[in-house]
Amino acid sequence: MMYIHYCKHCQRIHILNGHKNYCPRCCGHLSELKISYMKYVNMEKEERLLLRRRLSDPRELAALTASPKKTHEYAKWLQLSASNVENYHSGNYAAYSH
Ligand SMILES: [Zn+2]
Repeated sequence: MMYIHYCKHCQRIHILNGHKNYCPRCCGHLSELKISYMKYVNMEKEERLLLRRRLSDPRELAALTASPKKTHEYAKWLQLSASNVENYHSGNYAAYSH
């Protein structure tokens, strides 16, 4: 499946295979857009330009970004950060007990 991503660092729209987190061009963090691949490829050139212009506004970008809660990657990230917090605390505890 192809998904539409936007990189605010290079201000470009990237069509990527699967849910990607990082820009293939600048390695910056990507936003996955709610717009479907089929919808995007059927857009006129002017519509795409307009979309890019809208995405340069952070509020518009937030409104057009797919909810990260629904993606598998986000769940994995949550689990990862939760276990990091645990390790951090147990490390602290060990440091204080000596
Ligand atoms: Zn980029």
